[in-house]
Amino acid sequence: MQNNRVWERVCGLVRTVVEGVRFDGKAGAVVVSVRPNARARSRCGWCGRRSPGYDQGAGRRRWRALDAGTTAVFVEADAPRVRCRTHGQIVAQVPWARHDAGHTRDFDAMAAWLAVRTSKSATCQLLRVAWRTIGSIITRVNDDIEANLDRLGGLRRIGIDEISYKRGHRYLIVVVGHDTGRLVWAGPGRSEAALDVFFDELGEQRAAEITHVSADMADWIARVVARRAPNAIRCADPFHVVAWAIEALDIERRRAWNQASGRRVPASTGRRGRTTGNSRQIARSRYALWKNPEDLNPRQRLQLDWIAKTDPRLWRAYLLKEGLRYVFAVKGAEGKEALDKWLTWARRSQLPAFIEPAKKITRHRQASTPTSNTVYPKN
Ligand SMILES: [Zn+2]
Repeated sequence: MQNNRVWERVCGLVRTVVEGVRFDGKAGAVVVSVRPNARARSRCGWCGRRSPGYDQGAGRRRWRALDAGTTAVFVEADAPRVRCRTHGQIVAQVPWARHDAGHTRDFDAMAAWLAVRTSKSATCQLLRVAWRTIGSIITRVNDDIEANLDRLGGLRRIGIDEISYKRGHRYLIVVVGHDTGRLVWAGPGRSEAALDVFFDELGEQRAAEITHVSADMADWIARVVARRAPNAIRCADPFHVVAWAIEALDIERRRAWNQASGRRVPASTGRRGRTTGNSRQIARSRYALWKNPEDLNPRQRLQLDWIAKTDPRLWRAYLLKEGLRYVFAVKGAEGKEALDKWLTWARRSQLPAFIEPAKKITRHRQASTPTSNTVYPKN
């Protein structure tokens, strides 16, 4: 009896009676025989309502529990069926595992935790399960969390983003809550209809409470937000805006590299030919141009000085990138003013890579009324 109590604790069992423990030599595992206690017995596996018994089901069943040291542990019990008023004939609920699960709740919790905090291979090796199994565990745990949690409640400031996977062939829309920093919604696609699904789930009332929406400058996102979240101010996401600037700078850098002296045609061996002179300097200054100035090492500082002296056009592109970073570093009215100045500067820069994004930002600002839907740096 004492022994059974110990195993009850080891397996994290509640509302459960431990009938016995044995070592299954063939499976190389400890098997703990259990049954739900009187209060937990005879309940619908789906809704938990107490229901009359139907039959003995498929007989004894095993659920994988957390290992005891390096030895696998299984919880074993009968899996009778009951007849629920709502759900019909269904396998009875067990207190130690979710409905239709092959693992105990403790195991599920451990697997989900590991999957979030460690690598895929570490999780699989440590728990000795296939990644596919972890996938279904995460789904179960997540469903439980979802059922008790309204992710879409109380949203005020959100960010909408699209991410691609399968080498850019598939897309997901993800919505994050800026106030909590959490992912609140994700759905397949990258279209107005796909984003409409989010706003359908959110509902009109909650959508009206959204005050700010940050996103990249995709027109389809802007259209849906204007239509579905009428009170929200549309914000440019600093991450995306600065990412454009870096991309624009890179276009200029490649232009400079192509025009520079000392560039050689790649060697016929397939390896890149060595470059010399200015071209080599530009190729090497790549990171100096990308990095934030405060992170530069002395050598990279010298590289920038050299660019300032030898390539005014590339230098102008660099200053534009840094200027845009500044716009997002200052807040409020000062930030808006800085953005206005930057847009004028960029439009007159004679650098097509900067003129285009600047025009786009300007267009988005003008498309909206001055009091709302203004693109401005997010706090
Ligand atoms: Zn039921």
